[in-house]
Amino acid sequence: MNPKRILVVGAGHVGLYAALRLSKKLSSREAEVIVVDPQPHMTYQPFLPEASGGNISPRHSVVPLRRELRRCTVVSGAVTRIDHHRKTATVQPIVGPPREIAYDHVVVAPGSVSRTLPIPGLHEHGIGFKTIGEAIYLRNHVLEQLDVAAATTDPQVRRRALTFVFVGGGYAGIEALAEMEDMARDALRYYPELKTSDMRWVLVEATQRVLPEVDRDMGAYTVQQLLKRDMDIRLDTRLESCVDGVVKLSDGDSFASDTIVWTAGVKPSPMLDATDFPRDDRRRVTCLPTLQVVDGDRVVEGAWSAGDCAAVPDLTKAPGNFCSPSAQHAVRQAQRMADNIVAVIRGREPVAYKHKHAGSVASLGLHKGVAQVYGIKMTGWPAWFMHRTYHMSRIPSFNRKVRVVVDWTLAFFLKREVVALGQLHDPREEFAEASRK
Ligand SMILES: Cc1cc2nc3c(=O)[nH]c(=O)nc-3n(C[C@H](O)[C@H](O)[C@H](O)COP(=O)(O)OP(=O)(O)OC[C@H]3O[C@@H](n4cnc5c(N)ncnc54)[C@H](O)[C@@H]3O)c2cc1C
Repeated sequence: MNPKRILVVGAGHVGLYAALRLSKKLSSREAEVIVVDPQPHMTYQPFLPEASGGNISPRHSVVPLRRELRRCTVVSGAVTRIDHHRKTATVQPIVGPPREIAYDHVVVAPGSVSRTLPIPGLHEHGIGFKTIGEAIYLRNHVLEQLDVAAATTDPQVRRRALTFVFVGGGYAGIEALAEMEDMARDALRYYPELKTSDMRWVLVEATQRVLPEVDRDMGAYTVQQLLKRDMDIRLDTRLESCVDGVVKLSDGDSFASDTIVWTAGVKPSPMLDATDFPRDDRRRVTCLPTLQVVDGDRVVEGAWSAGDCAAVPDLTKAPGNFCSPSAQHAVRQAQRMADNIVAVIRGREPVAYKHKHAGSVASLGLHKGVAQVYGIKMTGWPAWFMHRTYHMSRIPSFNRKVRVVVDWTLAFFLKREVVALGQLHDPREEFAEASRK
């Protein structure tokens, strides 16, 4: 038989795990696996807050694709269109003209992007927290703001530089806020000009609680912990505008800030608009529990999807519920999907994905955390320790696990690195100036 061609669109949590498993289970006579992603690495997003806080080297929170996917063909580029009717995808490589790739099976896993609202000033002044670039930028930016505040004699400039605003109280927002504040507090020991009370860390959350992934009491505990650290927690409050960095909130308050981080949810990748896959009202690809794409009650043959971009029924809940967008589901769905693709290629029936969400673990800075796993609630150091061991066990590859543990061990004995490498964001500036005629 001719080998089947499996095209994996996106090498994140779903794509990397699915491609790895497919390439291990299927011989080259059975299938070839092609993986397309514009990034040369998979980003282990749950480690972004720690990478931003400087507890893990940013390089160690990503997994190089070419080293992990040696049995696959890796294409550096973005899929810009999928015509499943013709079983063809259009790929825009990072250089050169677009090309078409034909396939027998497609794994649709481009994930999600930040879900924004048309808030005046947000486009110009906001930044998301979903990519390694954003995490590194935010770290350098926050540390730079400490330098700005220490250098200025103008109290308004200082106040503005030291006001940090995070919008959205899910785990990404809470962890990013808590890790950044922890890092800045640590860094202040080298800034005799500044006091901890000069900093203002604001969380703006539209609902009445944070961390909707855990029970209310755990959300309340988290708020208490952040308040103890003198953070300004605004529940039931919306960001109304931030034109020129002037933050206006729905509770009437207004203040200036040069740091506005948007972590208020995600929506499926807009790339899906250029495909002919069926979508639900939230623009997710509609799937069966077997991870096969489904159009009404018709299985779309050869099309599979999972992760943040897919509506996968949650069989552990009442009908009409879907799996939440989380790494926990993404990784498990990827494995189930790969096994199902192997089954279908070998003429067997696919099996339904069923996983009861185990709970959530969130770090609130060094030695601080909150966790609710299989109903067991933990706070403080045990929760933080659980967060670390869980994610260390989940990050792909032995190499990454060792590097992350080495980073943590070094951080145990040495003081945290709190230097801003802001030059990274404009490395040609000095040379361009020197070479100016
Ligand atoms: C800061 C943060 C912390 C988090 N913490 C947790 C946590 O503690 N626990 C948890 O369970 N979940 C957590 N999550 C959520 C979790 O990371 C996501 O649910 C998970 O990454 C979804 O996996 P995915 O494969 O669908 O998407 P992703 O992992 O985002 O992968 C999508 C991939 O597709 C690629 N791509 C995009 N467009 C294209 C295109 N056009 N062509 C080709 N490739 C494309 C991207 O480059 C990317 O590599 C966190 C998320 C964030 C942002």
